[in-house]
Amino acid sequence: MKPKFSEFKDTLWYATAPRGPETQTLQGEVTADVCVVGAGYSGLTTALELARKGVSVVVLEREEIGFGGSGRNAGHCTPTFTHYSLPELREVMGAPWAERLIHRQTRANDVVGQMIAQYDIDCEWEQNGYVQGALFPSHLKKLQANMENYNAAGARTRMLDRDEVQAVTGSSRFYGGWLHEEAGGLNALAYARGLGRAVLSEGGQIFTGAGVTGCDRVNNAWQVRAAQGSVRAEKVIYTTGAYTVAGWPKLDQTFRIMRVFVAATQPLSAASQAVVLPQRTTIQDGRGDIYVYKYNSQNRIVASMFPMGQRGRDPAYTRQVLSDRLKWLHPDLREDLRWEFFWYGELDMQRKTIPRLYALGPGVVAMTGLSGRGVPTGSMIGGILSDWAMGVAEADLDLPIEPLQSQPLYMSMAPQAALRGFRLRDNLRARRQGAPLPPHA
Ligand SMILES: Cc1cc2nc3c(=O)[nH]c(=O)nc-3n(C[C@H](O)[C@H](O)[C@H](O)COP(=O)(O)OP(=O)(O)OC[C@H]3O[C@@H](n4cnc5c(N)ncnc54)[C@H](O)[C@@H]3O)c2cc1C
Repeated sequence: MKPKFSEFKDTLWYATAPRGPETQTLQGEVTADVCVVGAGYSGLTTALELARKGVSVVVLEREEIGFGGSGRNAGHCTPTFTHYSLPELREVMGAPWAERLIHRQTRANDVVGQMIAQYDIDCEWEQNGYVQGALFPSHLKKLQANMENYNAAGARTRMLDRDEVQAVTGSSRFYGGWLHEEAGGLNALAYARGLGRAVLSEGGQIFTGAGVTGCDRVNNAWQVRAAQGSVRAEKVIYTTGAYTVAGWPKLDQTFRIMRVFVAATQPLSAASQAVVLPQRTTIQDGRGDIYVYKYNSQNRIVASMFPMGQRGRDPAYTRQVLSDRLKWLHPDLREDLRWEFFWYGELDMQRKTIPRLYALGPGVVAMTGLSGRGVPTGSMIGGILSDWAMGVAEADLDLPIEPLQSQPLYMSMAPQAALRGFRLRDNLRARRQGAPLPPHA
């Protein structure tokens, strides 16, 4: 039988992350002010914020800390929005919400860096920047506009000309690029486990193997039920993301799943490192059908793409695509590439591609729909969800609270269709502008 979620233990992060903290098994009834369901970045940063303010908080996790997207993502941490430009986001969200979210998101890497430093989280955090390249000249205009908009909102980014982008990336393919100097990369699972340890150090409790099956109002409080026990709490926050299983009716319909894969090479030789990402920057090659890559601390290239047709389905072909693209971007790379790790994960996609906060009942909210930028977003979201739990008025929160909304069925196909559309558009533009196309484009 096909598993509902792909194999967690296949990831590079599972093979290399330090052990997680000791957690508890839920038995009987436990009481807390707030119960958080889901131990990914969103749930853990919420619990951490609450615990350090002295609020008693319990996290219930169905599997283990970081089992969802938080333990298996590619580990890029870039404080931008994936899909919309800032003017588009302002149109989609309106005032005052867009400005508030933009403020949080553009500063999210500071939040990540501060948590890692404060709790001494051993997670390969390297802040070597992120470059979005331009593989055809007209893309530079869009990157320039993004740079101006983000910097006007307080970000610290700049454009790179052709020579600079080559010096930073080691690739002569780019016509220029947009650099976020403060962006970083990390070992996804190590970061999640470190956040778990931080929650415990601040007095929060984490129960693993505690899949929530339901939640009932009993005597002015909520009883959050798992197989062998329950939590009685005034407030409940669901942060179960793409990996939502049961827990609350229809929560798994607030998004549609989009799969993404990540692969990691053998550790590259010093000669290869001199020609591929000599400054250890993370690169997004600028195409809408993205190819993103960076080093981990063992000097393996960690690359991610979306499955499309044979790519992602046929292992040999997929490895060939990954290698051909990297060698096309870096023709001086002579080393044979072995993709020693390969894994899939699931994204919680929804139309607005921003986190969505839903009211489920009096004192119960859910947040889903991070749509693929979860390292920075899931890290700053704890600030917003903990504000809600501490009683900040709805109008003063940094995200609007909405009634639970199912995503339309077409959202099961829309992201893939959009990806194919971006591929055609980029090919057309590159051809018109005389720019070479990458292999398998
Ligand atoms: C392959 C992949 C690559 C990605 N790459 C990047 C990247 O490079 N950069 C980036 O910023 N983002 C990336 N993302 C997105 C990012 O990982 C996610 O957006 C983020 O981790 C989501 O965090 P979360 O806390 O909301 O949810 P999750 O981390 O998915 O956590 C939800 C948790 O809830 C638990 N759960 C579910 N149901 C129940 C229940 N009933 N009871 C108790 N527990 C329950 C799950 O087991 C899970 O542990 C990637 C995602 C994937 C899958």
